[in-house]
Amino acid sequence: RDLYGPGRPNSKGVEFGHRASLDGLLAEISKGAQSSFGATPIIDGRVGGGEKRPVISPIDGKTIVGEVTEATSETADKAMAAAAAGFAAWSRTPAEARAKALTRAADLLEERRGALLHLLQIEAGKTLDDALSEVREAVDFCRYYAAQGQVLFGAGEGMSGPTGESNVLRLRGRGVFVAISPWNFPLAIFLGQVTAALMAGNAVVAKPAEQTPLIAALAVKILHEAGVPPSALHLVPGAGSVGARLVENRHVAGVVFTGSTDVARLINRSLAAKDSAIVPLIAETGGINAMIVDATALPEQVADDVVMSAFRSAGQRCSALRLLFVQDDVANKMIEMIAGSAQELKLGDPRDVSTHIGPVIDGEAKERLEAHIRAMSRSAKVHYAGEAPAAGTYVAPHIFELDRPEALAEEVFGPVLHVARYKSGRLEETLQAIDATGYGLTLGVHSRIDATVNRIVDRLCVGNVYVNRNMIGAVVGVQPFGGHGLSGTGPKAGGPHYLLRFATEQTVTINT
Ligand code: GLU
Repeated sequence: RDLYGPGRPNSKGVEFGHRASLDGLLAEISKGAQSSFGATPIIDGRVGGGEKRPVISPIDGKTIVGEVTEATSETADKAMAAAAAGFAAWSRTPAEARAKALTRAADLLEERRGALLHLLQIEAGKTLDDALSEVREAVDFCRYYAAQGQVLFGAGEGMSGPTGESNVLRLRGRGVFVAISPWNFPLAIFLGQVTAALMAGNAVVAKPAEQTPLIAALAVKILHEAGVPPSALHLVPGAGSVGARLVENRHVAGVVFTGSTDVARLINRSLAAKDSAIVPLIAETGGINAMIVDATALPEQVADDVVMSAFRSAGQRCSALRLLFVQDDVANKMIEMIAGSAQELKLGDPRDVSTHIGPVIDGEAKERLEAHIRAMSRSAKVHYAGEAPAAGTYVAPHIFELDRPEALAEEVFGPVLHVARYKSGRLEETLQAIDATGYGLTLGVHSRIDATVNRIVDRLCVGNVYVNRNMIGAVVGVQPFGGHGLSGTGPKAGGPHYLLRFATEQTVTINT
């Protein structure tokens, strides 16, 4: 099933410890920063109408990164009609030609890495490390889906049947796919959704997150330059209401969404209310992701992995660790070491290479997180409370200990770790508590006992399980990513079955 193949390695990283490599990268970013950035609706390659507003950087809460024109409802409708008209030609374009455009897009992304990194840092507040991983993931998505799509969407598969008859099963695009993407991976998830839908032969209307339209606009420009026809890919920046309008449109044949479980439910309801065809939804949502640490785990490794899983990207990954369960015999020592490691984290301007944690995405996110931190500070034991710069939207990392794990009832999307102890011999209660959240995205396990690891892995219905390592940063083609239950519908992004869900199947039987 490794269609990516050994001849197509994932994209290359940069060794930050090597001064010349780092300086080269920083020079690329300064050069990339010299362009001016803007986003508008793009319909059939032309600018669509809407309301203008500045995009403000979360780094200081005042730098204007660029201007966005947000689509009106009429613009959204026009984009859907244009995509419906563009579908026929694109779906008939041979899979090799579609794949070629995506592969070319991967090359262009690498060429324009400086501008992309600049935007990821200034528009989304990402550290250099996170920004670079994200560009690599975006490149990998393009190449991975292109490689797979060529095989899957080729001539079709002959089925065995009676003599005198030929039977072929083939995959085709569904029609117009609406792609609604989040601000936390404004390039990689945006492009992952869009390229999968395009590779499968769909026309796409993409609605990027309200907070990060500029990088999406640059990504669309790159795809068009790479050979994706403007009639097959349209962009409609705007608020959630624009997404709702797209989903309601009669031309929609599929929706791919990454974001909150609540919004996924709204989309699902809206699709279910249609009296037209039954429209599938591919949703990747959140999680109350747990890690279980037993008494045999290596404390130093646990401390590193917990801090990375909970606080990297300011905790703004849906894979991030939210709820840590530690066996009580070792809990005091483990928690002390984790808090010690957290203390080493540097919070601040993400453009400073030594920064570990940048800002959260906006003022609203900061307020929500601070309200949670205030409530937890009153009701839970505080093991660590960091400090945050006053300007910009920074949230200090916190570690709280809960008496009962159920006290964390919903996903908290930021740098806040919750810890609960479990008694030796009472692991089952912990597994039940994890089950009871209803989510099933990521899970971490730190244990040196194979039987314990196997029992946990078998018992829990979780999409991505990481044993004796951190639990974030799934790599395309290596750790297909996505969850179950309240965490989403599957299929897994960056995995061998993802494209299938974007397609319809057609069986052609010919009496020969
Ligand atoms: N794929 C990312 C990871 O493994 C998370 C994606 C998300 O936050 O939506 O960390």
